[in-house]
Amino acid sequence: MTLAIRKLIVLVLIASVFLLANLCLVVNWLTELGVVDCARHIRQEYVTGTAITVIITLLIVIVAPRAGGTKLLRRCPVCDQTLLGRSKYCSDCGSKV
Ligand SMILES: [Zn+2]
Repeated sequence: MTLAIRKLIVLVLIASVFLLANLCLVVNWLTELGVVDCARHIRQEYVTGTAITVIITLLIVIVAPRAGGTKLLRRCPVCDQTLLGRSKYCSDCGSKV
């Protein structure tokens, strides 16, 4: 976690505390702007139970691909011996892979 991410987390926390403290004011403002009615319409038309189920299933099923990937067959950089598995040292010459 870098320093920039920590600063961002602190700023988001402060903003969320201010929003929670003025919750009634924010809700009234959004109602006057018509955002609440628009969101209610979108929920009734597009976000049905089936859509929510499909989205949750996709979030569970789809996983991030492994970065880089693991190779089963590697070669020793010193003696060019074929290495099997995840051993850190070459079995032939003993050098670190
Ligand atoms: Zn070797």
